[in-house]
Amino acid sequence: MIDEFSTGSTLPATILIIDDQPKNLAVIGDYLMKCGFTILVSQTGTGGLRRARDLKPDLILLDILMPDMDGFETCRRLKADESTKNIPVIFMTALTSVEDKVKGFELGGVDYITKPIQYEEVLARVKTHLQIVNQKKKLRLQASVLRKINIHLKKEIETRKAAERELQSLNEELEYRIKSRTEELSKTAEKLRVANIKLEKANKELLKIDTIKTEFVALASHELRTPLTSILGYAQTLLASYSQMDNSMRADVLSTIVSESKRLSALIGNLLDISKIENRNFNIVIEPFDVGEVIERVINALNLPSGFPLTVHNMVPDKHRVVGNQEKTGQVIRNLLDNALRYVKNEGQITIEIKETDEFIRVGISDTGPGIRPEEQEKIFEKFYRIRDEKNRSFGSGLGLSIASNIIEAQGGRIWVESKYGKGSTFYFTLPKEISYE
Ligand code: ADP
Repeated sequence: MIDEFSTGSTLPATILIIDDQPKNLAVIGDYLMKCGFTILVSQTGTGGLRRARDLKPDLILLDILMPDMDGFETCRRLKADESTKNIPVIFMTALTSVEDKVKGFELGGVDYITKPIQYEEVLARVKTHLQIVNQKKKLRLQASVLRKINIHLKKEIETRKAAERELQSLNEELEYRIKSRTEELSKTAEKLRVANIKLEKANKELLKIDTIKTEFVALASHELRTPLTSILGYAQTLLASYSQMDNSMRADVLSTIVSESKRLSALIGNLLDISKIENRNFNIVIEPFDVGEVIERVINALNLPSGFPLTVHNMVPDKHRVVGNQEKTGQVIRNLLDNALRYVKNEGQITIEIKETDEFIRVGISDTGPGIRPEEQEKIFEKFYRIRDEKNRSFGSGLGLSIASNIIEAQGGRIWVESKYGKGSTFYFTLPKEISYE
């Protein structure tokens, strides 16, 4: 019985009966108590309100006609109070007018029982409404559970969204890192590739230098041996046949020995220069000097036979002051003149021209020799490069122009050749002009 009417808790349902008639209270109360309900009673509307607020019954049976506060007013107040508004109210009335019943419903009553009371009817209606209350409570409970689940789900969704956002930004960060790392790597790879190319080039250069050095040793020994053999040969002849020779023969032999010795000495000088250049040990002292004077001195030292067609054109009005190294510049001029003389072979003409530009003095040495093919014009400034041509075949070491170009460049100038094959060549070099502060 108790279970059947309980509100879902372990306690039996509590019913508050408000009626001014003690007899009514006793009769209905007893009956319902026997049915297993907990019964609370009140004889006035005011007292009923208080009990309802304090004890929260599950259902209220409310009389309409009461002296102090009638049932309608009591119901109105019950419904106005937050703590009691959900307790279902069943009116008990002797009134039979339809308006009264309607008013009762309007004020929030859930049902009515007419007096005189029929017990079975009371019990049936109480049971029904308690079941409704019970259902409502269950529904409320379910709704609150659902609300909680909903809140929980919303939170869960929020958390997931936040996690997703974090994941997304981590992903982006990762992608960015991968991208920049890849870029870095490809840059490094590119650098490595370039470094590798440089290394390979350097390696080739080294190999080339090695080959050049081997060639150099072979060539140098050969070049040194030729004049030395000749000197030795002549000296031995002189020694062996001294008494059979007359003075002029002896003088001839001696002068050959001297000229071969000079050639040997010049060659050794060239070899020393090139070795200094190779070892980057080629420091020269730079000072102002007059290039015209140096040219004059070199020509004088050549001891040319009188009448040899060598012209010097001077296009610079006064002095030809340049900044450089006098001795080394003299060496270059002598070298260029030697070559020119060697290739014109007494049949042609040599012209020296000195010209002034904004910053430089330019010296040009022209000859009417065999000339140089265009494809060889740059190569002849390379070390050991010799033209293997019948016309201008040289017997030198191929070092002269290479040394000359190093000397000129060390002084801040430039050296080059302009030539027409079969017609002749002009070798030019420039040196920086001395700046006058007048
Ligand atoms: P070398 O000391 O053997 O003469 P150089 O370096 O002075 O070497 O000259 C390199 C090459 O340039 C020579 O083999 C020569 O054939 C060519 N050459 C130099 N000067 C002239 C010139 N004035 N006319 C034609 N060919 C020249």
